[in-house]
Amino acid sequence: MPRQFFVGGNFKMNPSTREQKKDIVKILNDADVDPNTEVVIAPPTLYVLSLADILRKDFKVAAQNAYIKNSGAFTGEISPAQLADAGVPYVILGHSERRTLFRETSELVAQKTRAAIDAGLSAILCIGETLEEREAGKCTQIIETQLQAVVRVTKEANWSKIVIAYEPVWAIGTGKVATTAQAQEAHGDIRKFLHRVVSPAVAESTRVIYGGSVSAGNCGELAKQPDVDGFLVGGASLKPEFVNIINSRR
Ligand code: PGA
Repeated sequence: MPRQFFVGGNFKMNPSTREQKKDIVKILNDADVDPNTEVVIAPPTLYVLSLADILRKDFKVAAQNAYIKNSGAFTGEISPAQLADAGVPYVILGHSERRTLFRETSELVAQKTRAAIDAGLSAILCIGETLEEREAGKCTQIIETQLQAVVRVTKEANWSKIVIAYEPVWAIGTGKVATTAQAQEAHGDIRKFLHRVVSPAVAESTRVIYGGSVSAGNCGELAKQPDVDGFLVGGASLKPEFVNIINSRR
């Protein structure tokens, strides 16, 4: 079965007002989009449910993070069970901003992935190397280490609930997009890793999406790469050009 093209909008800590949120949703609701693309919108947690209420029903919503426990004394956290109970199907985990600014280790991200799947959620698992790591020739090693942590705590069947987002840290929010060759090479490496370490079937069926300065201008070429199964979009997901990105395979 071909892998369904996937486009996620990561709003990060935007927009700043509920009014702006409505404006973005209106653009999405009015758009003519490719029905073959799975679209998932990840607003700040505060807006997930209200956004889901007004968002077109062929789009899904995601949280941008969740904890490893389902309830208890964890001030400020939100649990995978709470998200599942609220009908939220997806959660972004291990975004590089969480790994760097909030010190999330690959082990913690792996535990979060496990907890999310156990609660019935699907995970958008973010991985990727820094510029320093790339220049030191460590790109594959970093990606594999980040994935290996997840492999250790999951079973083969769990991978149907994981979308891998390859997001080179140096390309996030910088306007510096990976070249099509760089993206294809990393995505190919990820698929080879899954083939070797999990199973050929999982390597074939798991979607590997690209993130990092994706725009209307660069999405078309990236979307043509055989191992690029979609995008995780930050800045451009708040703008009308997000519709072009959703339609990049058209
Ligand atoms: P960007 O962010 O598109 O603004 O580079 C991507 C992301 O952080 O997921």
